[in-house]
Amino acid sequence: MAVERTFCIIKPDAVEKKKAGAVLALLEEKGFSILACKRMTLSKDVAEGFYAVHKARPFFGELVQFMTRGPVFVVALERENAVAEYRKVMGATDPAKADEGTIRKLYGGNVGENAVHGSDSLENAKIEISYFFPGNEVAPVAG
Ligand code: ATP
Ligand code: MG
Repeated sequence: MAVERTFCIIKPDAVEKKKAGAVLALLEEKGFSILACKRMTLSKDVAEGFYAVHKARPFFGELVQFMTRGPVFVVALERENAVAEYRKVMGATDPAKADEGTIRKLYGGNVGENAVHGSDSLENAKIEISYFFPGNEVAPVAG
């Protein structure tokens, strides 16, 4: 299986609960390397651009409001089969439906405020990593 990169956002609810460190520790325990990590507050434009695929959904305004209400951590991750493995560790979108031990079960509040974001494909992971870590902040893939 190939070594891949994926992208994580520790969302404002988890940062407010002071669980950013716990999320990063869990990811390391699960075999992910943290390639890059920074704390920032998303502007409305950046949040709308990031979630543009959901523009037509009824919860879009609520989602943008939530994602901009306080600081987040944006994180580039690496491990074997990273995209699928991180989706497993993250858990279902609705924390009430997430498996025991997943980040969303542990730290999520509800379907909107669900502690973390994770890329849903390798292609989107590349786009999302370069959206938040342009230039040489994350070393290019070797080889
Ligand atoms: P993410 O893209 O944040 O990793 P996901 O891929 O599990 O989450 P998506 O369907 O892509 O889920 O939804 C993006 C985000 O929009 C969710 O993580 C959540 O914050 C919000 N969201 C999704 N469904 C709802 C809903 N029914 N009501 C409110 N917010 C929602
Ligand atoms: Mg998604």
